Amino acid sequence: MFKNFHADAYFDDITKVSPEYLKEKGIGGIILDIDNTLIGHNVPIPDEKVLRHLRLFEESGLKLCVVSNNKYDRVKNFSEKIGVRFFVHEALKPKARGYDAAAKQMGLDKKNIAAIGDQVFTDVWGAKRAGCFAILTKPLHKGGEGFFIALKRILEKPFIK
Ligand SMILES: [Mg+2]
Repeated sequence: MFKNFHADAYFDDITKVSPEYLKEKGIGGIILDIDNTLIGHNVPIPDEKVLRHLRLFEESGLKLCVVSNNKYDRVKNFSEKIGVRFFVHEALKPKARGYDAAAKQMGLDKKNIAAIGDQVFTDVWGAKRAGCFAILTKPLHKGGEGFFIALKRILEKPFIK
């Protein structure tokens, strides 16, 4: 069970994940987490650098799907703003349901999908359970997250290289 808490790969942030690296691994699509993966805390839209990187993924033929535990309006609006067509709301990560829905939208097998996120117990665990390639990034915003997220970060520590 604990093996599902270890990501397949670790990167500082999403812009460090190159399309070439993913394609070498047989990846055809990417599941994107929103908070602290694409944007910091209370920030409406990603940095220009992150947006450019998303376009680079697409130009390399990689499909993108936002998968979030957030409500429909937030996920839909956010996905539109960043120019990503596919999205899954109320995904209930780490349950597999959201990953299944994303795979269906992108028309890919889950083993050919990389899921990029910042949290071990939602993003990594969910991706591993679903059979996706799990990539853990450092959270874009540290601090100011409240007690429970701070606690979770401490519990995550043993599973992060
Ligand atoms: Mg997150």
